[in-house]
Amino acid sequence: MRMTKNRELVYKEILNSAVPLTAYEVSNRLKEMSLTTIYRALEYLYQNGYLKRFSLDECTYYYSSESHRHFFRCVQCGKLYPIETCFMEEYEKYVSTHFNFKVYEHFVLFTGLCEKCYQDSLIDKTENANA
Ligand SMILES: [Zn+2]
Ligand SMILES: [Zn+2]
Repeated sequence: MRMTKNRELVYKEILNSAVPLTAYEVSNRLKEMSLTTIYRALEYLYQNGYLKRFSLDECTYYYSSESHRHFFRCVQCGKLYPIETCFMEEYEKYVSTHFNFKVYEHFVLFTGLCEKCYQDSLIDKTENANA
């Protein structure tokens, strides 16, 4: 197995995206490629360590394994935001020593309201109070 043209195109889309992408989102960016080809490419890239993935609400999101990121997901608009900063070193040490586990990596997903949705929720409340 090797990096074919299609795999490379799919990989580049994900590498250049700030947020993780689903197969469907990749297909919106690579319109000339079939969804089946994209699924196969993603599977290959995942199996060979180029990509990492996680599932949310029955969607699988892919992101590059080159950079370490945490994520925030807004429960209102569903948008994903990358968080580049990681403070998990102490916590990993704790998990290793306390449970005697060999920790390989971690995945962090915060949920809540993004800034815009939080502001909108405040406006909604004021409007309701005035009604
Ligand atoms: Zn939001
Ligand atoms: Zn981290």
